[in-house]
Amino acid sequence: MAITDKIYVKNHRQLASQLETSFPKSAFSGATLDVLFTGDGLAKLDEASRERVLEFVEDFLDCDCQSRPHCGHPERKFIAYLLELRAEGLGPDAIVDVMGDDYMLYAYPGDVLSFLDDAVRALEAAERLADVDGRAAAADEIRQKRRELT
Ligand SMILES: [Zn+2]
Repeated sequence: MAITDKIYVKNHRQLASQLETSFPKSAFSGATLDVLFTGDGLAKLDEASRERVLEFVEDFLDCDCQSRPHCGHPERKFIAYLLELRAEGLGPDAIVDVMGDDYMLYAYPGDVLSFLDDAVRALEAAERLADVDGRAAAADEIRQKRRELT
């Protein structure tokens, strides 16, 4: 399962009751993207929640794809956001705190930790491949990215 399958909406029950409908707890599940993030129920949310939902929409659902929000871009952008927080020096617990403040989302720190470990391992593998292929500039670039995450 991708990390984006393990990102959850905080105050999920409260929001569902404000919207007078149900949607899954998982933030990136198709129904949540439809109901909470692109539905027309936004006006029914309390102000603080609405602001967070709008932030999320602006930051991750801002592409022009016809299949938006089911085009894969929201997930990719969220992954970039997580990696950026890590590159800023945040650990899993702090990352979970920040996504709560920013977007009213939460994850389990252990899941964030495995995601970051996997990202580093993927970069290590890519770096080795680039080295083997003699693509020195690419290898350097990947090494740099990996160092940002460790
Ligand atoms: Zn898109």
